[in-house]
Amino acid sequence: MNKLIGPFTQIVTLANLPVKGSIEDEQLEIIDNAGVSVDEDGNVLAIKTFADFDQDAFKEIETIDQEAVLIPGFVDCHTHICWGGNRARDYAMRVAGKPYLEIAKAGGGIQDSMKKTRAASENELKDVTVERADRHFSRGVTTIEVKSGYALDIDNELKMLRSIKSADKETKADLITTCLAAHMKPKDFEGSSREYLDRVLDTLLPKIKKENLSNRVDIFTEETAFNVEESNYYLSKAKDLGFDITVHADQFSTGGSKVAVDNGALSAEHLESSTEQEVKMLAESETVATVLPGASLGLGMQYPPCRKLLDAGACLAIASDWNPGSAPMGDMLIQGALLGAMEKLSTAEVFAGMTFRSAKALGLSDRGKLEVGKLADMQAYPCNDYREILYNQGMLPPFKVWKKGN
Ligand SMILES: [Zn+2]
Repeated sequence: MNKLIGPFTQIVTLANLPVKGSIEDEQLEIIDNAGVSVDEDGNVLAIKTFADFDQDAFKEIETIDQEAVLIPGFVDCHTHICWGGNRARDYAMRVAGKPYLEIAKAGGGIQDSMKKTRAASENELKDVTVERADRHFSRGVTTIEVKSGYALDIDNELKMLRSIKSADKETKADLITTCLAAHMKPKDFEGSSREYLDRVLDTLLPKIKKENLSNRVDIFTEETAFNVEESNYYLSKAKDLGFDITVHADQFSTGGSKVAVDNGALSAEHLESSTEQEVKMLAESETVATVLPGASLGLGMQYPPCRKLLDAGACLAIASDWNPGSAPMGDMLIQGALLGAMEKLSTAEVFAGMTFRSAKALGLSDRGKLEVGKLADMQAYPCNDYREILYNQGMLPPFKVWKKGN
């Protein structure tokens, strides 16, 4: 049934903006006193001045009787929200001065989450994932990528991916699964890193394909996880198996973003340590540069060179990296606002980075803008000027969020 929603004080469509490079706020398409109509499949039918709609043509009209600014739902293209336990102890150690890699080497970090995630049942993992996804949805995030990678053995990685799949049926947000079995070689694996990757390639990835659990593969490229050579080996094989690929790149040292670009990855994610050379390379590629301000905030590290990436012409996506260790906050709105202030980004660049540009990082072109034919994934804020959204630095949450027009 066709439905009309409105009137909104402003609709910021993000239509007609470039996929790559810098954007000025003056380029934003803003329609005043506007409405949006949605078809029975949840796609946008039309967006125009509310008074120009023939209200008799709609069986249902959802009236917005307050001042409201409508923007597309956020797409969080990088999270790890399926995990067991918590890492408050690690966090306290780290803020007191212990470096991340030292905590990891001492048996904290990922290994700790691994134990608790392995111990949790599929149903328990599903429940915590739904809880976090619902919280994200209430803050305007309508699509959420969720990685495995805290189990690191074949059966438990499958358990994680199945639990994310069942969580997807219970939360309003769309959950996109990614296999991150190459997060780190687990301590109890007897063999080399290469042998661990071979085990994943030979045993896990075919099962994931068969059960249709994910079509995406990620790797943590870093000397302490998997080096450049191992990453190239793994990703080229995963590509041969038909997976889309993405890379945890340049977080502590460079190398990962080149792996991403060389292997035609959809995205290179993190980039805190990227230099001029990586910025140029990413800008000249089709690989999305995804930055994760939540990880900088959680680790007390520098932000990635966002301004330089945009000025060089890269496609900059912004995601939360929500995870139990380095990015426990998990809030797009606060992080986007803070990143914009620190890196001198326009509101349009922050919005683009959290919507259609992050959708591109997931290979999705059906969302992230409010345009005819795109999904009616939308969020409305209680204000009359779109600039108030980031100005409030996360303290003005959306009052209504729609997934496919509902
Ligand atoms: Zn991550």
